[in-house]
Amino acid sequence: MNRSSEKSSTLVSPPCWDPDQQLRWLSESRFRSRQHLGIAERKILQRLGLEKVLEHGRVFLTQRVAPARPANDGRQTPMRKHPIFVAQHATATCCRGCIARWYNIPTGRELTALEIDTLLTVIRHWLEREMERSDCKKAEPSPTAAKRRPRSVQQTLFQTDCETAKKHEG
Ligand SMILES: [Zn+2]
Repeated sequence: MNRSSEKSSTLVSPPCWDPDQQLRWLSESRFRSRQHLGIAERKILQRLGLEKVLEHGRVFLTQRVAPARPANDGRQTPMRKHPIFVAQHATATCCRGCIARWYNIPTGRELTALEIDTLLTVIRHWLEREMERSDCKKAEPSPTAAKRRPRSVQQTLFQTDCETAKKHEG
């Protein structure tokens, strides 16, 4: 299915977004579907619980993504270290470019409260699905393995560059 050709006709304004439909679209992207919680993020999620983690998600979205011109847009969301960061890349809620592309929300203006709620709902559904997954071993390299990797690979693992990410989306 061609995601981009569908976009204008099938995406509707909030609150009619269907998080499950959104996740189905996202699963067609190789880059998005490869994002999974690693051991460290799973531990955080288990320790804090889903609701607390989603509170962090609201703060991250509000502070880093919601402003009309977010600082460092396209690079403001790390790839790892918090379950929300991973969820943001998996759900394309990591920066305004990705949100514009996947959710039809224009850049250059502040996100509304309703839009933030909607994006958080997609993140919630993704995290719930992720908690049901048992195979997290491959999801995260050990810290020592990451240290030994060349810098460029390490940057791919721990930093974000949504321009690079888009190349993987195909
Ligand atoms: Zn992004």
